[in-house]
Amino acid sequence: MNIGVLGAGQLGRMLALAGYPLANRFIFLDTTGHPSAGIGDVMILNLNEEGDRKHLDAFLAKVDLVTYEFEHLPVSLVRAIEEVRPVYPSSEAIRVCQNRAEEKVLFDRLGIPTPAYRLVEHADELEAAARELGCPVVAKSVTEGYDGKGQAVLRDPGEAHDAWRSINHPRLIVEAFVEFVREVSIIAVRGRDGEVVFYPMAENQHIDGILRYSIAPMPDLDDSVQQTADGYIRALLDELDYVGVLTLELFQTLDGGLLANEMAPRVHNSGHWTMDGAVTSQFENHLRAIQGLPLGDTAARMPTCMVNVIGREGDAAQILAITDAHLHRYDKSERAGRKLAHINLVAPTHDALLAKVRACAAVLPDAPPPRFSFD
Ligand code: AMP
Repeated sequence: MNIGVLGAGQLGRMLALAGYPLANRFIFLDTTGHPSAGIGDVMILNLNEEGDRKHLDAFLAKVDLVTYEFEHLPVSLVRAIEEVRPVYPSSEAIRVCQNRAEEKVLFDRLGIPTPAYRLVEHADELEAAARELGCPVVAKSVTEGYDGKGQAVLRDPGEAHDAWRSINHPRLIVEAFVEFVREVSIIAVRGRDGEVVFYPMAENQHIDGILRYSIAPMPDLDDSVQQTADGYIRALLDELDYVGVLTLELFQTLDGGLLANEMAPRVHNSGHWTMDGAVTSQFENHLRAIQGLPLGDTAARMPTCMVNVIGREGDAAQILAITDAHLHRYDKSERAGRKLAHINLVAPTHDALLAKVRACAAVLPDAPPPRFSFD
């Protein structure tokens, strides 16, 4: 099976690494001008060039089906591809997931709770929304934002005009600031036949909007909370007739309740722990799903923590000296704020795991202190 992947970053690289044992071949279509997958066949499409159809046709001629690892693509491009080859997940899933306003409308329609929000198209409306919701509020561009980009926290409605200018986007979503106990995510996979499997939820630590640590399973997670999250993501998967891996990020509040933050129509950084910590990784399961193969077991083998390596790499020998540490490098050059690699640490107990996480953070340049809600 020749698999076409829209996007050519580290997620695509890890998809390919999971697909080679299944004799899959990978052809990446990069639209950013700076692909980093470093494996497979990489083709570049210039979105600014009206009708770069020649490159698109060459890509389509090489692939049996198409998936993606990057959702900030013109929906018209995905629809054009869909006319020629199967695309999983569909262009409808990408349309909804690339727009925070569409996502929220879908969450509302399916009864999935979210932070209170307003949509605004002017600095004055932003100010009014901040007053109505009560500060602090978080303002986010409805499209193109990721890793905390295109966002601002307003501590006072008077900051609306500065925030509007700094985000510089015609449409924003304004959300009440959630005093969460922790940030969590649920990853699920839906096959072509509608079968759904769920991974154990992960607790995620973000700093400045960028994920730093994910731990799964959580030692103190009530079964009923996992079941609630499973129910939310199943509703989304079924509604979108989704095929592949879907990620839903949530806030857990003091009363144990969950509020949906955003979703990603793809394999996700908070699921990298599955590469060494679950029976079947999110990457393999995504490939199984889109090819119509049986889905693999999502159970965790042992408590696992994923540590992101950001900006500077650190010494591989020191990292690998930690027992059951697995280093996954993306073959990228160092740059402040850039995701360069991740490390999966696996241990028989959560106490032993936390000791390893601290040892790992100590040898990584710029690693923030790990903090977990249950520690
Ligand atoms: P996002 O790009 O929406 O995932 O936001 C990036 C990060 O900002 C999240 O992981 C949270 O840490 C924080 N954040 C976003 N929205 C809210 C909110 N409504 N309340 C509190 N924190 C938020």
